[in-house]
Amino acid sequence: MKYLAVHHFTPLTLNDFTLILQNQKAAPPRPVLLTFDDGYANNAELAMPILRQYNFPATLFISLGAVGQPGYLSWPQIKEMHAAGWDIQPHTVTHPHLPLLDADKQREEIMHSRQQLEEQLGGKADVFAFPYGEYNEETLKILREAGFRYAFTTQEGRVDSSLPPLELPRIVVYGDDYFRTWKKKLLRPAS
Ligand SMILES: [Zn+2]
Repeated sequence: MKYLAVHHFTPLTLNDFTLILQNQKAAPPRPVLLTFDDGYANNAELAMPILRQYNFPATLFISLGAVGQPGYLSWPQIKEMHAAGWDIQPHTVTHPHLPLLDADKQREEIMHSRQQLEEQLGGKADVFAFPYGEYNEETLKILREAGFRYAFTTQEGRVDSSLPPLELPRIVVYGDDYFRTWKKKLLRPAS
């Protein structure tokens, strides 16, 4: 985060990210969207204070079935993050391999996670991240029919407005990545 701040990257809110992608807002210098998946407790305990220090917004894709389990965020923590400016979006209920499920089961996973978030936090939870980055044609159809605006894969790459909105790539960062590996991924030119 210090590197991003020192090198004048601009972490975006999810709302600004969508406005920029839709060409309704000019992009700031070096825009990035910081995303976290799954909903580990350390997102509130470790990441939130650091992001707060830099005044960086972030987006959390949460697996709703894990809420309150050991090692995972509780509802009070999620609400605290939401109040601190984090965008909280669905990442299914049980974190399944979606392509292994039939359409009804996939729909249930997606829609139940969305509904729980919308009930608990208000606002729209219509941006999705695929567990393990896995999806099939059924998944895309369900998201499209339910009016999801964007979905994130774990395919490596940068986002731009020419890409299919329900198959956006990301720069995947692992907890044990070396700093130089992370930097190389971040600075890799768009292909
Ligand atoms: Zn996940």
